Amino acid sequence: MTQHAHMPRDRRDLSPLQLLARLPRTHLAHTPTPLLPAPALAAHIGAQAGLFIKADAWTGFGLGGNKVRKLEHELSPERLDDVTHLVTAGGPQSNHCRVTAAAAAHLGLSCTLVINGRPPEPPTGNAALHRLLGAEVVSVADRSDRNGAMEERAESIAAGGGKALVVPLGASTPRGALGYAHAMAELHDQIVRAGENQLKDDPVLFVAASSGGTLAGLWLGAALLNWHPTIVAVSADDPASSIRGKALELAIGAIPLLPPAMVPDRATLQSAVQRAATEASVREDFVGDGYGLPTRESEDATSIFGRHGGIVLDPVYTSKAAAALLALLDGKRPAVFLHTGGHPALFR
Ligand SMILES: *Cc1c(COP(=O)(O)O)cnc(C)c1O
Repeated sequence: MTQHAHMPRDRRDLSPLQLLARLPRTHLAHTPTPLLPAPALAAHIGAQAGLFIKADAWTGFGLGGNKVRKLEHELSPERLDDVTHLVTAGGPQSNHCRVTAAAAAHLGLSCTLVINGRPPEPPTGNAALHRLLGAEVVSVADRSDRNGAMEERAESIAAGGGKALVVPLGASTPRGALGYAHAMAELHDQIVRAGENQLKDDPVLFVAASSGGTLAGLWLGAALLNWHPTIVAVSADDPASSIRGKALELAIGAIPLLPPAMVPDRATLQSAVQRAATEASVREDFVGDGYGLPTRESEDATSIFGRHGGIVLDPVYTSKAAAALLALLDGKRPAVFLHTGGHPALFR
């Protein structure tokens, strides 16, 4: 295609993808991530209508995954004035803590990670990377102690003359969700371009979910695009109702952060988001015994995706989402698997 410099007269001439790409952010992710056809895997599992992998494991920065896109917005430049420290929280093998520590180092900031439970000794997987990336690790006994400990750390940083930016769990905030609204527009663009020969129907999109920011962004993106793929979100830990509630709150909370050109009418967009959420399915029946504990189905999925697709799944999130895909696939509509990353946990 010949590219003539066509200057839009008006922001209303820009597509949702172009408008979302223009939101202020700190560029970290390698995007667009590829949308890879997986023909051998599709044939093996009977996905006659096709199977595609949206490879967000390959966002690249800090070893990649979905947290990179969320942090680009959470750490947008205007929020970093005078900031000296990033403070965040997670479990001992947190992917989010890994990427936040990498972002802090990249930006020349200090980083404190509030980790519930003791990191393995010697540290492995993400715990080793938290250390390699130079983060200070503060251990607390329980998940419920994390927010208080983050606030305390921010206060002591302030008392020492610094300024902390506290990044909530998973960077799952309304701002962080914008990263996945953008990803949804990117995916839509890739599908429309592939569509002529490959993807004729709206796909079923499978994605792992926990703190809800990714799902929130997908819903917001679907609403902005007026696009209706079936979204199947697969919990890695929490009950479906709580993930659904959190994601809806985040998606609606993100609406005021959009440029006016994207929101001609706030009530209409809000009901489109609600509709996307209603049409989606949130599954809690692939968690098994709990967060990070493999199930028979997640181990089978890991083996099938690996041996028949060359796709490496992680044991905490994507293997459970892939187990859901294998169980729920109907073969009539194309499936898209959003690979959210998490590879370091294979080496925990
Ligand atoms: C954090 C994470 C998720 C869940 O994303 P949320 O936005 O917290 O719902 C899924 N997959 C991987 C690999 C993750 O690290």
